[in-house]
Amino acid sequence: MSGPIDLHAHSSVSDGTESPAELVAAGVEAGLGVLAITDHDSTAGWDQAFVAAHGTGLEIMPGIELSTQLDYASVHILGYLIDPRDPALVEATAAIRAERLHRAEAMVERIARDYALEWDDVLAQSTPGATIGRPHIADALVARGHVSDRSAAFRTILHWRGGYYRPHEAPLPIEGVRLITEAGGVAVIAHPGARGPQRVLSDARMRALVDAGLFGLELDHRDNPPAAREHWAEVARRFGLVTTGSSDYHGTGKPNRLGENTTSRDVYEAIVARGTGSQPFRTP
Ligand code: AMP
Ligand code: FE
Ligand code: FE
Ligand code: ZN
Repeated sequence: MSGPIDLHAHSSVSDGTESPAELVAAGVEAGLGVLAITDHDSTAGWDQAFVAAHGTGLEIMPGIELSTQLDYASVHILGYLIDPRDPALVEATAAIRAERLHRAEAMVERIARDYALEWDDVLAQSTPGATIGRPHIADALVARGHVSDRSAAFRTILHWRGGYYRPHEAPLPIEGVRLITEAGGVAVIAHPGARGPQRVLSDARMRALVDAGLFGLELDHRDNPPAAREHWAEVARRFGLVTTGSSDYHGTGKPNRLGENTTSRDVYEAIVARGTGSQPFRTP
């Protein structure tokens, strides 16, 4: 195994625009050594990714990006090497997906008062069983011609202050860290410098997350501004957390490119040594 290590990417199992097989092909094309598949609240893409990776030499790190929330902030927690059949995790992720669906329907209902938009438009932009999020509503707004692309939708109609936003219920971050850790997984806070987590993750809360099993922070990510990176690098040193770097690739749904941020081989190996719920998929 050689080549850059990118530990955060989405497929159409959540809000990426490419199927798991297409995501793997993009990873091969980008010359990566390791690519993690981390769909929001779902592991349904793992098997297809493994099959697609066979014989390519690309190593697949199985993961998830778990939605949690605290004081109205959305905190995403990456979980690597979890047991995908862990009953508590299976139940929690099913509940989050159902809650996301409910919330998306409520947002569409609000938007539909001012724009021509129906729930079927959103369904047309997602694969069956996908974890539904604002990106699917964004694609529906693009298809209807209300906005030019996903990013424009997020800047306007789907913005949290845009007038149509609804939060969705999710477990607390500490519950998310426990769910991942108890499923044999390795918990890493995704983009901690993004607005929400930056606001709510005080030092005292970080202490509690570390005590619950938190292993790392996703330091190199385009949503962490420079000042925030300094803060989180210092927090990682203080609490003995590893730091990762990743692209958070969503296919054509976001400007993020595979390999734009990467994780060191030492940290990758520490994550692999720690996880017990599943294994990276390696091919000869
Ligand atoms: P949600 O979790 O449903 O509130 O939607 C947030 C998701 O939308 C996250 O997975 C982001 O990756 C994605 N997202 C946020 N901002 C943008 C953007 N400007 N363009 C495309 N996707 C975005
Ligand atoms: Fe996403
Ligand atoms: Fe995220
Ligand atoms: Zn993500």
